[in-house]
Amino acid sequence: MTEKIFEERQSEENAPLDFVRAQVAEDVRNGRFGGRVQTRFPPEPNGYLHLGHPKAICLDFDVAQEFGGICNLRFDDTNPIKEEQEFVDAQIEDIRWLGYEPHQILYASDYFDQLYAWAIDLIKAGKAYVDDLTPDEMREYRGTLTEPGKESPYRNRSIEENLDLFERMKNGEFPDGSKTLRARIDMASGNLNLRDPVMYRIRHAHHQRAGDKWCIYPMYDWAHGQSDAIEGVTHSFCTLEYEDHRPLYDWYLDQLDVDLHPQQIEFAKLNFTYTLLSKRYLRKLVEEGYVDGWDDPRMPTLAGLRRRGIPPKSIRDLCNRVGVSKTNSTVDIALLEFYIRQELNLTANRVMGVLDPLKVVITNYPAGKSEEVEAINNPEDESAGTRTLPFSGELYIDRDDFMENPPKKFFRLSPGNEVRLRWGYFIKCEEVVKNDDGEIVELRCTYDPETKGGYAPDGRKVKGTIHWVSASHALDVEVRLYDRLFQVEDPASAPDGQDFTANLNPDSLQVIRAKVEPSVADLGAGEVVQFERKGYFCLDSKDSQPDALVFNQTIGLRDSWAKIQGKA
Ligand code: ATP
Ligand code: MG
Repeated sequence: MTEKIFEERQSEENAPLDFVRAQVAEDVRNGRFGGRVQTRFPPEPNGYLHLGHPKAICLDFDVAQEFGGICNLRFDDTNPIKEEQEFVDAQIEDIRWLGYEPHQILYASDYFDQLYAWAIDLIKAGKAYVDDLTPDEMREYRGTLTEPGKESPYRNRSIEENLDLFERMKNGEFPDGSKTLRARIDMASGNLNLRDPVMYRIRHAHHQRAGDKWCIYPMYDWAHGQSDAIEGVTHSFCTLEYEDHRPLYDWYLDQLDVDLHPQQIEFAKLNFTYTLLSKRYLRKLVEEGYVDGWDDPRMPTLAGLRRRGIPPKSIRDLCNRVGVSKTNSTVDIALLEFYIRQELNLTANRVMGVLDPLKVVITNYPAGKSEEVEAINNPEDESAGTRTLPFSGELYIDRDDFMENPPKKFFRLSPGNEVRLRWGYFIKCEEVVKNDDGEIVELRCTYDPETKGGYAPDGRKVKGTIHWVSASHALDVEVRLYDRLFQVEDPASAPDGQDFTANLNPDSLQVIRAKVEPSVADLGAGEVVQFERKGYFCLDSKDSQPDALVFNQTIGLRDSWAKIQGKA
């Protein structure tokens, strides 16, 4: 899958524009909308933004920019029961983090007065009516794909009665669910969305912006196109499930006295293997405590990815590569991981971090002495410069860099074998010290003082280079190691009688203590470094304290998961 996307996209370097841009370009060429391009990103503030949203965000903002237009952020805040200010704030932060600045930040709730006035216009034109059917009855009357619907007995109320009832709905005279305002279109339409869709429902609920002014709230379809028209949106991009809503989008605009009739264009949603994106699922994970909040670094939310140290550029790169299409597809999460590694390799400084410390004593190093060795911060970026590392007679190396009885191709440390300590010296293992249980507790080694910097003047070579830290100088830190949150490729499909939480990976979080070189004390919150040979780690922006550092694993250096899968 990943390979296929690469090949397709690479052979398309000079390919024609995708279908969305092609249509926008044609509209501009023809002077439709006066040659103007205006888009919007319209999230509902009912949760945090996730890894699917950037596809829409990039499309909305990039197209506007490419055609010299503007893109607003507009909150689709029409359902106060599920929406919160916390989500509004988080979504704004996430969009900025991704690298986009909305031209304006707008709210559908600011148009409630206008929408109400337009609803009255529709009633006066005989195109909307107040219905008393219960939600269950309404479902029954609606019909099915193969059967036409039945007209509500309230459908032919007089205009005067409708105006009166609608006003009283607004004034709070009726309880929740007792009445709706419906568009009067066609109960026999082949498109279910046109079978007298609900425009308003009664909800005696406080709205985070509008306060207690309203107890009737507009449905998405009634609010969306009209909000687009009010703002001057020319091209309204949305995902494929709204394709069947487009006739309704157009119908509403056709009935109203508006100057502008925007063009809705649908594109396919983005989905990933091993990942669930719908806010409904993510909310459950948060509310039932499967994860530690919306920004848990295992969550596929932008807040979680940020806290994990994922560079926003890697997400934009992915969206570019995947492109825009009309068919829903699931992208291999390994493709995103490829872009993360590519970006971090260029931008993250290297440090020494030992995740499973094994003590090494250099027996011929002067007691009590320590010195500094010079290290390159980022071999991919000269401007990152160099730093010094403390070296001494007591070090830690990673336990898996030593084997007492090594197989043939093991070039790291083993009895009698010489290795290079990265940026340091050559050392040779002379003795293995064990405790009563036979566990190795210390290695006694000698070093060659002539090999400072990691090269022997006599030209002799060693095959292995390992990382290390000086025991007395190293910082003891907490490291959170992450694995996939879900252990199956398609987490939505759960075993019989269970829900998606049955697919959670019980080992997605492992907390360890590690020894890391002292320079990491200078890192800023959220900064990512590469622990040499181990992977990328990010200083946690929430829990880390100057005297108790916490690192989140961003990603390993290689795709170890593919290997495990291959073996299984
Ligand atoms: P969710 O099921 O996660 O709540 P949604 O579509 O209801 O998704 P909104 O907040 O309404 O979420 O989405 C804002 C915009 O982002 C919409 O235009 C929507 O079509 C788009 N979007 C949502 N999910 C995806 C996705 N997986 N891929 C591409 N675009 C998406
Ligand atoms: Mg939604």
